[in-house]
Amino acid sequence: MISTKKPKVAFFDFAGCEGCQLTVIDALQSHPELLDAIEIVQFREAMSEHGDDYMVAFVEGSFTRPSDQQRLDQIRSQAALVIALGACAHIGGINALRNSKPLQEIRQYVYKDQADHYEAGKALPISAAIPVDGFIPGCPIDRHEFIRAVKSLIQGNLPDIPDYPLCVECKLQENECLFNIGKPCLGPIIRAGCGALCTTYGVGCEGCRGLIPHPNIESLKEVLAECGLSYSMIDAKLALFTTNELHEFEVVHHGKR
Ligand code: SF4
Ligand code: SF4
Ligand code: SF4
Repeated sequence: MISTKKPKVAFFDFAGCEGCQLTVIDALQSHPELLDAIEIVQFREAMSEHGDDYMVAFVEGSFTRPSDQQRLDQIRSQAALVIALGACAHIGGINALRNSKPLQEIRQYVYKDQADHYEAGKALPISAAIPVDGFIPGCPIDRHEFIRAVKSLIQGNLPDIPDYPLCVECKLQENECLFNIGKPCLGPIIRAGCGALCTTYGVGCEGCRGLIPHPNIESLKEVLAECGLSYSMIDAKLALFTTNELHEFEVVHHGKR
């Protein structure tokens, strides 16, 4: 797919905290050999040079403003490959929490009398604006997965992201299931790849890597309820990262809009 030996790469940011870009900088510092294999032409977080000739575009942040469309179109028309970087770009991320309430209500809560001054719409994945070739999930991304993804791209392959549940990795870590000690966890429906980071430290998965294909959401809700969570708490927990994916799931499986 990528023919040149030293592909030109650019990084872009939209609505996000820039934590994924910081993780990229951190990852490249520990793998400087990659800087010999790619040429970074644009990366506002890390350098002042600015080139518009690139083959791979990593895009961080969610698509929240109609005015972002033009910039995303421009990136899409230039890049042979567009990779969504992190949960905000991949699934709308934590920003999408606001999608479950009327936008004007949210704007007034945040901006008070300046509510109409800011152009803030629904928080969507960048795939809602342009076609995307691949993604690196997580909030923030996993640095090891980013390095593997760059190596794959250099070899002409898209990033190989797991589509099995976190529980698989958690079991491989030989963790005791948190449900056994009464702690809730979203692991059964969430995409693996972080090495079961949170559960290994005794914290239930919050779902930052997004849903696996064909998640059994109703079954997990029953287990969470048995664990003592009210249905409103369960919905709030699921909404933290998967608001947009759950909406899509409802549309596809139950025809709800
Ligand atoms: S995915 Fe998380 S770390 Fe990355 S930009 Fe969004 S909020 Fe920040
Ligand atoms: S702690 Fe969570 S991720 Fe680990 S096995 Fe239990 S449900 Fe799955
Ligand atoms: S355990 Fe869950 S919340 Fe924690 S990093 Fe992995 S996917 Fe994200």
